[in-house]
Amino acid sequence: MASESYHHLYNKAAWRSGLRPAHLLKEPVCRACARRGIINVGSLTASGAKQTNPRRCYLAVDHIIPHRGDLELFFDPENLQTLCPDDHDQNKQRLEVRGYSEERGADGWPIDPQHPANR
Ligand SMILES: [Zn+2]
Repeated sequence: MASESYHHLYNKAAWRSGLRPAHLLKEPVCRACARRGIINVGSLTASGAKQTNPRRCYLAVDHIIPHRGDLELFFDPENLQTLCPDDHDQNKQRLEVRGYSEERGADGWPIDPQHPANR
């Protein structure tokens, strides 16, 4: 699986305690919600209602262009966008259609950096 070749990237300190939190400081609301006029800091659904599932109260940092293990794309701050879980799921479904699914690594953990298990 191609996914396993870049699984390790999400465990890098440069991502976990570097680029990811730095991006969230820079863009603390869901970009897709903002386009719809909704200010979502991770407490709302994509339609602007209060998120009642505490496990979905977070913001994902998404790679706009799927990096597929490309270090330049992975660590490019311009290639990141903040998304709420709803918008991220929709994005992910589109990615799956394109062939980039939310695979799990060999250890069973989701490789997706936005998955709650990886936050
Ligand atoms: Zn959103």
